Amino acid sequence: MSAGSWPPKDSGKPHLVIIGGGFGGLTLARKLRRAPVYITLIDKANHHLFQPLLYQVATASLSPGHIAMPLRAIFRSQKNVRVLMNRVAEIVAGEKKVRLVSGDEFTYDRLVIATGARHSYFAHPEWEKNAPGLKSLADALRIRQKILATFERAEMLLAVAQGSAEVRAGKDAIDARSVAQGSAEVRAGTDTAELKKLLTFVIVGGGPTGVELAGSIAEIAHHTLRKEFRSIDPHTTRVILVEGGDHLLMAFPGALGKSAEETLKKLGVEVRTKSIVKNVMYDGVYIGDELISSANIFWAAGNTASTVLSTLGTRLDAAGRAVVGSDLSLSEYPEISVIGDAAHCVDHASGKPLPGVAPVAIQQGQYLSRKIAAELKGKKIGDFRYWDKGSMATIGRGRAVAKVGKLQFSGMLAWLMWSFIHVLYLVGFRNRFAVMVLWMYSYITNSRTVRLITSDDL
Ligand SMILES: Cc1cc2nc3c(=O)[nH]c(=O)nc-3n(C[C@H](O)[C@H](O)[C@H](O)COP(=O)(O)OP(=O)(O)OC[C@H]3O[C@@H](n4cnc5c(N)ncnc54)[C@H](O)[C@@H]3O)c2cc1C
Repeated sequence: MSAGSWPPKDSGKPHLVIIGGGFGGLTLARKLRRAPVYITLIDKANHHLFQPLLYQVATASLSPGHIAMPLRAIFRSQKNVRVLMNRVAEIVAGEKKVRLVSGDEFTYDRLVIATGARHSYFAHPEWEKNAPGLKSLADALRIRQKILATFERAEMLLAVAQGSAEVRAGKDAIDARSVAQGSAEVRAGTDTAELKKLLTFVIVGGGPTGVELAGSIAEIAHHTLRKEFRSIDPHTTRVILVEGGDHLLMAFPGALGKSAEETLKKLGVEVRTKSIVKNVMYDGVYIGDELISSANIFWAAGNTASTVLSTLGTRLDAAGRAVVGSDLSLSEYPEISVIGDAAHCVDHASGKPLPGVAPVAIQQGQYLSRKIAAELKGKKIGDFRYWDKGSMATIGRGRAVAKVGKLQFSGMLAWLMWSFIHVLYLVGFRNRFAVMVLWMYSYITNSRTVRLITSDDL
């Protein structure tokens, strides 16, 4: 199949194909709304996803609809964009074609690859089934289901054990006091490996996502679920955060990493720095030589770029990202640009590769829109320059760390900054308003509103 009537035959305008409607691709397509170009935006998902708040879906604070918006709705009134939902399998750069998994092909005049990144399991892809990571809405819902269901399973285990003790006690016609004693013994007896395993959460990776997940799970266990169970005590839940480096949040200054560690410890999280995960099984994880039994292992360490980049035959770095020049294009194919998490782009100021964060993808999308618009007029613009506005990570309710220029903040002020910026960047007024109201409600009541287990598969 060809691109058909897109662009219209008599338009005389070029065809820009953008793969990926994340931060980079979305920004680029929106900024080109007045440019004389027809855009095909291809994404395997039907929505733009605000990944920085994914952990809030995974930990029952927000619903998927709060942090994602259908791409079709976003571009409803932008007439030079058409959205196609499919996965790009291959780029045939020599023929200026992209090939989809469906087998269909589209030709382009200009191509922008903004396919983001996936988790990397350090050459152990088999660990993924035992330690899900957090990248998509499906991942977040799977993790939410696992967290909520694990407490239900633990409650059931103990309730059944207590029930059978009472039946035994009734048969023996012993008095109420000995029933209580019997239950206590059973409770002690069943506070066994299985219960401990259920109530142990291990999060691998002490970057922002790991810190956010660990803090939120500890809050759920130690605050939200308090008083809601009759047999288990969620407060006994162990939350272990494992990091290979010597402090958490390695991309932040050491002092902020230490501050995050202190805050997590106060929330009841066991922080293990300088610790390497050697193996991940379905019911436990080896940290060095120590086996920790756990039914809940989550992965927040390492990224690898989309496999579609390997079909380009261009230079990739160790994380699978395409090495781009200072104008974000590929040296072999100047009509192809790569942006965001998929690109290895060297920062002009530090000489180091830019990090995989949303502001990099957004600024690269903005830059490329200016570059493409200028080229359409036969003009050129200078190289891409990243403006680092700072970085921040939240640790829990009212707690965060932030670095803005040389200034460093932690605690409530950092959390307010974090909340404000995240709401500001959410797509859609309805989402911004809903998230703001929900956060205020959760802050005041210390509750989580989205605690429904929607799968029958307990
Ligand atoms: C849990 C989590 C928390 C984060 N927290 C922060 C944070 O607090 N601050 C921050 O700045 N950054 C954060 N990030 C990183 C940030 O989200 C990324 O840097 C940013 O999303 C990169 O934008 P992108 O456009 O390159 O890719 P993405 O936003 O990942 O978008 C890629 C798009 O490409 C699509 N796609 C991928 N492969 C294909 C294919 N073969 N065919 C068709 N479509 C495809 C995907 O469906 C997706 O829509 C976080 C990331 C995660 C996962």
